Amino acid sequence: MTAQRIPFFVPEIGEAEIAEVVETLRSGWLTTGPRTKQFERDFAAYVGAKHAIAVNSATAALHLALDAIGVTSGDEVIVPTMTFTATAEVVIHRGATPVFVDCEADTLNMDASQLERRITRRTKAIIPVHYGGQPCEMDQILEIARSRGLKVIEDAAHALPARYRGRMIGTIGDVTCFSFYANKTITTGEGGMITTEDSELAEKMSIRSLHGMSKEAWKRFTAEGSWYYEVVYPGYKYNMPDIAGALGLHQLRRADEFRDARRHAAERYAARLADMPQVCALAVRDHVQHSWHLYVVQLALEQLRIDRAQFISELNKAGIGTSVHYLPLHMHPYYRDTFGFQPDDFPAARAAYERIVTLPLYPRMSEDDVDYVVSAIAAIVAEHRR
Ligand SMILES: *Cc1c(COP(=O)(O)O)cnc(C)c1O
Repeated sequence: MTAQRIPFFVPEIGEAEIAEVVETLRSGWLTTGPRTKQFERDFAAYVGAKHAIAVNSATAALHLALDAIGVTSGDEVIVPTMTFTATAEVVIHRGATPVFVDCEADTLNMDASQLERRITRRTKAIIPVHYGGQPCEMDQILEIARSRGLKVIEDAAHALPARYRGRMIGTIGDVTCFSFYANKTITTGEGGMITTEDSELAEKMSIRSLHGMSKEAWKRFTAEGSWYYEVVYPGYKYNMPDIAGALGLHQLRRADEFRDARRHAAERYAARLADMPQVCALAVRDHVQHSWHLYVVQLALEQLRIDRAQFISELNKAGIGTSVHYLPLHMHPYYRDTFGFQPDDFPAARAAYERIVTLPLYPRMSEDDVDYVVSAIAAIVAEHRR
């Protein structure tokens, strides 16, 4: 395969990140330690949350959150079908059942108006996913959750930094989970962060992220610490090592700069695609600030003679990387066969799935890069339009 002219994503790793990782390696302290602790403090300050707990993935963050709020076997947790499998698999890891909700056709976020009829006596929590970086309708979701005694755990893997009605994502639900996977808005290679205002939940998640050993157990390795620790819970091995924390410290400082660059590219896409009815951008609500993690378009297939697969293959021929977010969970073999779903059980997600394409979007994308992608799309549309 030849190198792509416009890859789907390019991580932005600066000299400060590299130097900090090298210093970490030279320091002799590789696992969770001072850099990860600093990253937690900086992250809490950045989003304005009371507590931030660094972990080794957003999947770990979601799993810990469900564990800490007491989701257990026989419970139900409501999740969107239009998401990555991590959102639902952690529910299954708790012995509970994920209950899917369809999406809004224009934003692909979970349709809050369909939430109530999915709630049963067994429902414990709702996990909204801020799809692509656009916050969900948190007022409606929280109101329903509060009136039914449910917890809200936000899957904010796409949503750093983003705001809902002026409030930073990370300060709204009971627990918020962020991802620093390689292609997320900031990266630690692999990593995640949990934020919460609830000190009791924070303490639980912190202890359980490292084997359920008594708090600050990592200090036992330091000169002034004692060897003594106590196991208070069968926890997990979900702590973030300092090598990752070193990256996170510097990536976080650039989160706004990265977001501004992505927004600039996203706005240019929107402006250039506006007069192409065959390729429709997703709707963006007025009261949100989008993180612009993903730039997703929907193909108006009735106006084209090709399907989504061919559209992607034509872009690939032009050296442009793309992706699809997502094949809805209820259409994956595991969820389909386990729960007996038909594709049309969630008609909006099913219909969207056949039309969506995620275009390249990353901070280093220049105006020329965006224009190149848009002209490639224009050429495909000109050739295959009905
Ligand atoms: C990436 C992602 C996750 C998982 O993040 P990891 O840090 O890789 O565990 C969870 N949910 C969504 C919506 C994601 O995109």
